[in-house]
Formats: sequence, structure tokens, C-alpha cells
Amino acid sequence: MSTPRRFFVENIAEEVALTGDEFRHAKNVLRMREGEEATLLDGSGKEFSAILVRSEKNALFFHVVGEKPSDREPKADVLLLVGALKGDKTELVVQKAVELGANKIGVFFSRYSSAYLNENKLERLSRVSKEAAKQCLRARAPEVLLFSTLEEALSFGETYEHKLFACEFLPQGEGGIPAGNSYCLVVGSEGGFTEEEFALAKGKGYAGVSLGKRILRAETAAIALLSVAMYRAGELQ
Ligand code: SAM
Repeated sequence: MSTPRRFFVENIAEEVALTGDEFRHAKNVLRMREGEEATLLDGSGKEFSAILVRSEKNALFFHVVGEKPSDREPKADVLLLVGALKGDKTELVVQKAVELGANKIGVFFSRYSSAYLNENKLERLSRVSKEAAKQCLRARAPEVLLFSTLEEALSFGETYEHKLFACEFLPQGEGGIPAGNSYCLVVGSEGGFTEEEFALAKGKGYAGVSLGKRILRAETAAIALLSVAMYRAGELQ
């Protein structure tokens, strides 16, 4: 399947200038020519069909010829909160979360976190989100947020209907994943959670959820929990 010619732009108007990374990708990688068509995305959930009408040194100019709402954006509102992971595993989780339909992704630091994330890494994660959104034909790239503590992340997720805390030391059989369309899902980093962190989450209305008898890698747990929640929300059909 050819690379989708989909580009995120700041604003939509009759004529749109494509600049920066998206310009370089369109010109140097996709070698787009005048007269060719692309889909422009402004993050509103709409898709704008546009024709390349002019090429300049640092910009390509598109003429917008139509618009339609995307039918690939999820109806469920899902926030995935994951502990900062080592290496490029956080990028893997962001990429899979976008494909599976998360609306927001938050990365937090907890007691046993051993990974380090800075503003550059956050920018990288936002780029991963955009690229994954384009690849899976979404019209929005989920926002990636950074929380300096677990408590800050849990507070951000307090208003979601189903607040689920993946807890590897939960007694077997406790904690199911209910049907719904508003979820905040919390998964720990490689070091997992402390009992106190689980108690903090319960105090904020989070329910413990088990992902079975085996201890899953953090990235596996994040993808598994999100997959089940999206299925329960009717998004995987
Ligand atoms: N403390 C774990 C251990 O003893 O090896 C390591 C944590 S695990 C690698 C990372 C995170 O994945 C956990 O904090 C939890 O959120 C989630 N997780 C892994 N296995 C799970 C399971 N069977 N049930 C629920 N959550 C699980």
C-alpha cells in the first residue's frame, strides 16, 4: 500500500502552505508534483482534500477542494497513562496507543521509574503520535502529556467514567474491564507500583484490574489493557 499522502497543518484556508517537516517529507520523500492530491488534517477531526498547485523553495501550496468528517476517529474517550519506559519502549506504546484509538497519552514518573524523559523526548513522542495517526488514517494525532508524578497523572484522569489501574499484585479474579466509552487506563513502568501507589489510586476512585496470572512487560500490559478496553467500548469491530 503506498504511503498515504496525509499532512498535518496548523490551519485550513482556501490555499494552505505546507512547510517544515511535512514539506520536506512531501517534497523529498514522496516527491509530490503539482496537480497531485493530498489529504490535509488540522486536528479538528475533519479531512480536507487538496491539490498541490505551487511549489516554492521552502513550501508547497495546496488548494483545498473539499472536506469531510473522518470516520476513523474513536467515539470512546480513552486516556492511557503509562510509567516512563526505558529505551524506545515508550515510543512503541505511543505508536500502538494511537493505532488502537487512544485520545490522549500521558507519561508519568513513579517510585520505581528508572527511565528519564525530557522535553526533547516529549517532542519525539508527539512526532511518533503524528506519524502513527497518518499511517492508520486517523484525522487527529493524540496529544502526548508528561506528568512529573503519578499523583499528577491520576488527578488528570479523575473525571473519566472508568478509571482502571493495572495492578500486577491484585488478588486473582479481582478487577474486570467494564463496557463503556470513557476510560482512564494506568500501567506502571518496568519497576511496577508500590502498595502505597495503588492505595493512592484507589483513593482517587481508580479500580484495580488484573491482566492475568503472568507478569507482563509494561509495554505488553499497556497494549493489552488498551486493546481490551477499546473492544469493550465497541471500537474494535
Ligand atoms: N512489579 C512487576 C514484577 O514484579 O516484575 C513489574 C511491573 S510490570 C513489568 C509493569 C506494569 O505492567 C505493572 O506495574 C502493571 O501496571 C502492568 N502489569 C504487568 N503484568 C500485569 C498483570 N498480570 N496484571 C495487571 N497488571 C500487570
